[in-house]
Parts: sequence; structure tokens; C-alpha cells
Amino acid sequence: MKCRICKREARVALKSHNTAFCETCFLEFFSRQVSRAIESQGLMTHDDRVLVALSGGKDSLALMHELARQGYHVTGLHLDLGIGKSSRLAREAVEDFCHKEHLSLLVKDLASEHLAIPGVKEALRRPICSACGSIKRYYFNKVAMDEGFTVLATGHNLDDEVARLFSNTLRWDTCYLGQQGPRLEAEDGFVRKVKPLWRLTEYETANYAFLCNIQTHYAPCPFSSGASFSVLKSLMQRLEFLMPGRKIDFYQGFLKRGRPVFASLEAQRTTLHACAQCGYPTSADELCQVCRIREQVAKKRTNKA
Ligand code: AMP
Ligand code: ZN
Repeated sequence: MKCRICKREARVALKSHNTAFCETCFLEFFSRQVSRAIESQGLMTHDDRVLVALSGGKDSLALMHELARQGYHVTGLHLDLGIGKSSRLAREAVEDFCHKEHLSLLVKDLASEHLAIPGVKEALRRPICSACGSIKRYYFNKVAMDEGFTVLATGHNLDDEVARLFSNTLRWDTCYLGQQGPRLEAEDGFVRKVKPLWRLTEYETANYAFLCNIQTHYAPCPFSSGASFSVLKSLMQRLEFLMPGRKIDFYQGFLKRGRPVFASLEAQRTTLHACAQCGYPTSADELCQVCRIREQVAKKRTNKA
């Protein structure tokens, strides 16, 4: 197969776009998709100070690499979740990448906050995934606010977004449907959150990481089966295989015509107030979710002592 642009031997075939590219033209395609994703949704400008959440996986490292290449002011943030070998390898991948690319990096060790995930799992009686998600979001936001960043970027790709949209739709979760998207506006105490890879699939970010020689760390979380999301993702893959282009149409159609309807339904927002413990905005009574988790972990520790 030949590259559509320059007719050299193709390295990457993209069925959704009904095309194939050589290495150079694929990297240009990738760059263009990221610029379009940023510009069409007003995600950020070259004046923003961008904190990029780096897990060590292919998506977030590819994102950091490409944003730096496009001249954005980026700093990485890695949360060390304290999950044994898996977290050590993830942290190493992030540190090695930033060192090699001369990019600045902040690392937040959850163990130093008494919130290493294995301890949290032991102290809570509910599933760990939602608590882990709350803790991550809390520290992404806290570090960004404390350090004066104007934007927080994550590596969520089109497949992540479409699976989430599919899941929200199956449950008709109008609250999430009113908010889901590549840009979540800043408000009191919350920094703007963006997902600049929303136009690119997992396959495309994997190819980008491979062609740019980015060493990534992949290990599924030992505490999560990831089962429900992977079912939704594989159904969407099947649909895409049979009807190329449907994934991005579904998502873009939602952004244009679905989300505004749900957003107006949800206009009567929950009111936020400051957490009595840490001062961060929360919709919960008195303590925010993370301070409640912290209390439960401390209680478990004193019971053990
Ligand atoms: P996930 O929910 O694991 O698919 O991750 C989605 C995005 O969240 C990644 O692309 C990263 O941008 C960010 N992320 C996940 N885990 C971490 C972590 N431990 N440290 C920093 N960022 C993370
Ligand atoms: Zn709090």
C-alpha cells in the first residue's frame, strides 16, 4: 500500500479515514488532528501554562510529546499511586521520558499524603476504582491550582471518550451527558480540563508513540478488571470495523447536537462550597470526598495500632 500524500511505502493504514500514510505523513496527520482538536473546541492557546497528567501510558506521553513539539508551555504531572511494582515502573517510564525529552515534571507521591491506593482499598468498603478516580482528579486539580497552571490536560483519546459516551447513554445519565466533552470550563477553585487527543484513536496514539520511539509502561491496574469499559470499547470497534468513521461522527454529533440539550437540562447546577478540612470546592456536605477517604484511612490506621 502507498502513502496517500507522497506515494512512498505506507507504514500506517487508517481504515476510518480510508487512507494510509508513510511515517512522515502519518506524524503530520497526527499533528494536524491535535491542532484541529485544540482549535475547534478552543481548548487552549500558546499563552496557557499547561499541566499534562502523565500516567506512563502511550496516550499521555504521546500527548506531552506532541504538545511540546507544537510549542505549548507544558509541564508533566505524575501521581505515584503506590501500587507496588506497577507504580514503580509507571513512574520510571514518566521520569525517563521527561528526562530524555528535556521536559519538566512534577511528581506527587500519594503515600506521602497517606493515600497510597492499596491502603485506601483496605480502608474502604466500596469499590476502589471510583475512590482512585476521585483522588486522581483531586490532585490533578490541586497541583494545577496551587502551582498556577491555567489548564490541565489528560491523554483521553477518541476510544475512551466514545466508550464513556456510550456508557452514559446506556444509563441515560443526563448529568454526565450535559458535561462530557473535551473541554470542562474553569470555575471557582477548578482549573480548566482538556482532552486534546479526542480526535485520535488508541490505534493512532499507539502508532505515534511507536514511531516517535517513546518508551511507555503498560500494566493493567491489579485492582480493576476494566471489564465493563472494554466490552463497550470492543462493541464500538466492531461498529467501526463494519461502518468506518462512525465513532468520530457519533462523538462529534453529540458535541454539536446532544450535549447542548443535556447541558441546558442540567442548568440548575449543584451549588459548591468549600470543604471544611482542605478548603477545596465540593458539592458534598462539609467534607469533600477525598477528605472523607483520608478520614477513613486514618481511622483504619488507628484501629490497627
Ligand atoms: P486512565 O483513566 O487510566 O485511562 O487515564 C486517563 C488519563 O488520566 C491518562 O491519559 C493520564 O492523562 C491521566 N492519568 C491516569 N493515571 C495517572 C497518574 N497516575 N498520574 C498522572 N496522570 C494520570
Ligand atoms: Zn477536602
